Amino acid sequence: MKVTAGRRLKRGWMPLKVTEVITENHDTRTLIMVNEEEGCRAFDYTAGQYLTFRFDDLAPKPIVRSYTMSSSPCQEGYIAVTVKEIEDGFVSKHLCTNVKKGDILKARGPIGAFCYDGSKDHKNLTMVAAGSGVTPFVSILREYAPLLGSEHAPEKMRLLVSFRSTNDLICWKDLESLGKHPNIEIVTTLSREDRRDSGFLYGRIDNSMLAEVIGDQCDDTTFMTCGPDVIMDMTVNYVMSKGVKPEHMKQESFA
Ligand SMILES: Cc1cc2nc3c(=O)[nH]c(=O)nc-3n(C[C@H](O)[C@H](O)[C@H](O)COP(=O)(O)OP(=O)(O)OC[C@H]3O[C@@H](n4cnc5c(N)ncnc54)[C@H](O)[C@@H]3O)c2cc1C
Repeated sequence: MKVTAGRRLKRGWMPLKVTEVITENHDTRTLIMVNEEEGCRAFDYTAGQYLTFRFDDLAPKPIVRSYTMSSSPCQEGYIAVTVKEIEDGFVSKHLCTNVKKGDILKARGPIGAFCYDGSKDHKNLTMVAAGSGVTPFVSILREYAPLLGSEHAPEKMRLLVSFRSTNDLICWKDLESLGKHPNIEIVTTLSREDRRDSGFLYGRIDNSMLAEVIGDQCDDTTFMTCGPDVIMDMTVNYVMSKGVKPEHMKQESFA
């Protein structure tokens, strides 16, 4: 099965109605939305793409912010974004504290090419993320888990993700269950809580952790990374040092 983008594209601002708000943890919420006009998801997208939201009433001038869909295109009828409240963050605070079921948000998209491309990418996909940078990978894992090994899908997927503690896990129920798939490996490190007794790694993602998790397994592998610059830079440098070509190294910055 080929996963395609853009069969139904919406060019203008769409009214998205919040139908459910899921509390992921103390500072992160997932907003489930449908298109207000059509009562469903009104556009197609590829896992890893994002929407740009416009807020007209929060400040004297409209404010725009982008959020990646954490839902997968295979979850038909709705989309979801997962938002982490940033300290002193204007829009993320609004989305995490004020927005409720029934509210309408304006968004445009889908946008972006931070996606797995089955026609060009390698059959192994390794993803490295920290914090809210996991959202595109939640979408990609959800999308491709049932398709692994088929045409235009990876054969194996691996995610190395860092959260501060077990109180900061995002989309965890799904990640845990996806990690049970024989061809999906999910390695989670906690940077501020030592829970090695429960299967987590301990510490920030650094070169020695990349060596431990990725090692020399870089052949036939496309890499994607999303998170703070320091983690993306380290990942890029690590895999480049292993001979990975730039076209098999993709990055998305949330800054
Ligand atoms: C393509 C793209 C996809 C994105 N997807 C997601 C997503 O799925 N989930 C999500 O939670 N966010 C995502 N973001 C980030 C999001 O767009 C906002 O930047 C973020 O929510 C902060 O906005 P704010 O208005 O709350 O903060 P602002 O009021 O703009 O900033 C407040 C302070 O926080 C700092 N800051 C701003 N953004 C960040 C950040 N991301 N990390 C750390 N510090 C920051 C600023 O430097 C400033 O000091 C994405 C960004 C991009 C460009």
